[in-house]
Amino acid sequence: MIIRFKPGLRAAELDRIKNKIADFLPGAVLADGRGFISVRTRRPELLGERLALIENLPGVQKTELSLEETCPRTLAAPPPELAGIFKKNAAKKFILIAGPCAIEDEASYLAAAVRLKAAGANALRAALFKPRTSPYSFQGLGGKGFSIIKKAKRRTGLAAVTEATSETQLADISRFCDVIQLGARNMRNYELLKAAAAFGRPVLLKRAPGATLKEWLLSAEYLIKYGNENIILCERGDSFSKPDPRGLDLKMIQRAVKAAALPVIADPSHAAGDRDLVPAQALAAVRAGADGLMIETALDPGTAIMDGRQTLTLTAFAKLLKEIRKLRSL
Ligand code: PEP
Ligand code: MN
Repeated sequence: MIIRFKPGLRAAELDRIKNKIADFLPGAVLADGRGFISVRTRRPELLGERLALIENLPGVQKTELSLEETCPRTLAAPPPELAGIFKKNAAKKFILIAGPCAIEDEASYLAAAVRLKAAGANALRAALFKPRTSPYSFQGLGGKGFSIIKKAKRRTGLAAVTEATSETQLADISRFCDVIQLGARNMRNYELLKAAAAFGRPVLLKRAPGATLKEWLLSAEYLIKYGNENIILCERGDSFSKPDPRGLDLKMIQRAVKAAALPVIADPSHAAGDRDLVPAQALAAVRAGADGLMIETALDPGTAIMDGRQTLTLTAFAKLLKEIRKLRSL
C-alpha cells in the first residue's frame, strides 16, 4: 500500500501517522518515499476495515492499494476441482458450457442436451430463473423445471449450470444442479454472494457491465471469504442492450487470466447479441487465453422464446468447436 501525504506535512504529523499504522497493522514494514510511504503487511485482510481509519489521519491525502492487497485470496487460491469439469493447474480441461438461454420445454431441452454432449460440451446451461428487464417477458420455468434438469443430467452425465436470482432458489439449485450461476445483474448483490457461497457448489460469477477487474475480483473475494473458492469467472461484455458492437472485453479476459488463480471463461452470446457474431467473439476469447466458453445453443433458435437471435444452432456450434480445436485442445 502507498500512503500519499498532503503537501507540507510536518515531521510530528508523519511520526503520528507511522505510529498509528503500527497500531492498525501490527508487523507492517514501512519505507519512506518523497511525499509518501509504502507499507507492506502480511495481513492485507486487515486493510479492509482499517483503510478508512488511515485515510482519516490528518496529513494523509490518499491511499493506493495493489490488486494483491485488495483481492488477496482470489489471486492466491487455486481452486480445487470444479464439479469435475475443470482442474486448474492439472489437466487443464477447457470448460464448454452450452445450452439454450432458458429451459423452455422438456422435449427440446433434452434433445438439445444429448446432442450438445455428442458435439463436445462438458456442461449444460440449465436456466430456470431468468432476470428479465421487463416483468412481462418470460421469467423462466422456475422450480417446476428441476425435474427436466434431473433428466438431462441422467441422460448426459453433464454438469448443469443454473442461475440463481434470489437466495430462496439456492437450496434447490444446489440439490438438483452442479454449478450456481450468479449473473451480471447480481455481481454486486453481496448478500446473494454470501448466501451462495454457503452451499458448497461451484459458482460461476459473471462480470457486471462496466465493472472493473478489481470490482469483479472483489465479488469473487466475497465468495471465498464466505466459504467457497470453487469459482469460475465469466466475462460477458459491457451492455445489456443488443447487439453491442463492443462485444467481449478481451483485455479484461487477458488481465483476469493473468491476475486470478481462478478459471476465466467468456460468454460470447450475451456479449455479441447476434448469432452471426458469436463464433468470431468465441475464437477471440480463446486467443485471449480464456479457460472456457459459455455459448447459447439450441435445437431450433428460430422458435426460442428467449435470446433466439444470439443462439447458435447445433450445426453452428459443432462448426465452432472445430475452429476452437485448431487453437487448443478441448
Ligand atoms: C445468462 O447467462 O443467462 C444471463 C442472464 O446472462 P448475463 O447475466 O450475462 O446477462
Ligand atoms: Mn440469454
